Amino acid sequence: MSEIFDTESTFADLGLDGKLLANIESAGFKHPTHIQAQLIPVILAGRDALGQAKTGTGKTAAFGLPLIKMADKAVPCQALILAPTRELATQIYRELREWSGKGGPRIATVVGGEKYGKQIEAIEKGATIIVGTPGRVMDLHQKRKLPFDNLRWAILDEVDRMLDIGFRDDIRKILSKIKCDHQTIFVSATISGEIERLARKFMKNDVEKIVTVADALTVSQVSQHYLPCHWKDKKRLLLHLLTHTEPALTLVFCKMKSTVRDVTRYLNDHKVEAFEIHGDLNQGKRNRIMQRLREGKLEVLVASDLAARGLDVEGITHIINFDLPEDPEIYVHRIGRTARAGRSGVAWSFVEPDEGQRLTEIEKLAGVMIDQLEYPDFEPRYKSDKGKQRSAEEESAPSKRFSQSVTAAAEDTKTIDPSLFPGGVVPKGPPPKTLGSRLRSRRGR
Ligand code: ADP
Ligand code: MG
Repeated sequence: MSEIFDTESTFADLGLDGKLLANIESAGFKHPTHIQAQLIPVILAGRDALGQAKTGTGKTAAFGLPLIKMADKAVPCQALILAPTRELATQIYRELREWSGKGGPRIATVVGGEKYGKQIEAIEKGATIIVGTPGRVMDLHQKRKLPFDNLRWAILDEVDRMLDIGFRDDIRKILSKIKCDHQTIFVSATISGEIERLARKFMKNDVEKIVTVADALTVSQVSQHYLPCHWKDKKRLLLHLLTHTEPALTLVFCKMKSTVRDVTRYLNDHKVEAFEIHGDLNQGKRNRIMQRLREGKLEVLVASDLAARGLDVEGITHIINFDLPEDPEIYVHRIGRTARAGRSGVAWSFVEPDEGQRLTEIEKLAGVMIDQLEYPDFEPRYKSDKGKQRSAEEESAPSKRFSQSVTAAAEDTKTIDPSLFPGGVVPKGPPPKTLGSRLRSRRGR
């Protein structure tokens, strides 16, 4: 059985039909993923649903396709989809618009950092499905530009992020203002017991809970390793990895915006062209970086956790955790930016001498064993030998204990086995090295 796709069923079997089916087919979808096969019929049946499925397994279509089928084109503002970042909301909007096509319900985005005019105009023209970030949605609702009177569906993508402390109040306010009878659909790759309890407060009693993450929270197509490293050596090690292996498109995650800036500058000073994205950049810059990323016009993007959730960009081959995230759930989302829809990818994490415990927590949450990666030709200047403390039991599981060389791990992304892509979209080759050589000087451009 495929880990991601339900090769036994088709979208027609799930109850989708007509133009929508044709549009999904032109998007290259052959078989539904497991979460789609389970969630779509539940949503079509009108039930509230809480869905947990691994990163890159098509949760957007799982909630988006039934909305497109059921929404009445003639009625504005029938569905509200909330996402934690503007970039993710925009991505959801784009996918839905593609599936909905010319004849389907109209979609609009309502996100911060952009002018009000166009967004209000799209709502006034009768957009049926609204995709937005909580702040701007609240704002336009209070300005009476975004009515909730017709809402039949409220969707929270990345529900655990939406219900954590940062957004919880906004979400509570928004959901409590929906007075008419509506269906709620919440999804994420990580849903703890606590989040589930909170989520249920906003849902009807007969919530259908769907969990397609039986074993691990991360997909097996991502090859995960850690590299012990003193913090003072991290930038040199990163530079070493980026210049001694040939990853096509690497996303480097740092904990703080100041580190993102510092690391980007360091790489650029050492002739590796790198770009940065974090919340302190204005929206225009964020949009330009996202566009470059989507067009494959950059090779190294250093990011804060702004980019950790939901983003689906073809060709991201490597994730490097320059800093381990404080919250193990973030690790799952960060490395989920690679190895999407059945493709493969590589995730490397730098682990400082006193971070062994944190790595173990990540392994526990994700349900995977992360092994050490050798980097023989790198000369550390500072001691990092403590690394991870393993229990005797872990040490005695030899089948899972191996260490790979950096180049061997990078090779993982180069083999393409079509049987891994029963869903339809088989990449023609390894993701393109879009700009040719990795080493280039900024002055040369
Ligand atoms: P998730 O939200 O679970 O992380 P996404 O919804 O972003 O995943 O989908 C990941 C990628 O898989 C997207 O590029 C999407 O177009 C693609 N995809 C979704 N469903 C299918 C399918 N049934 N067959 C092939 N590709 C799919
Ligand atoms: Mg998603």
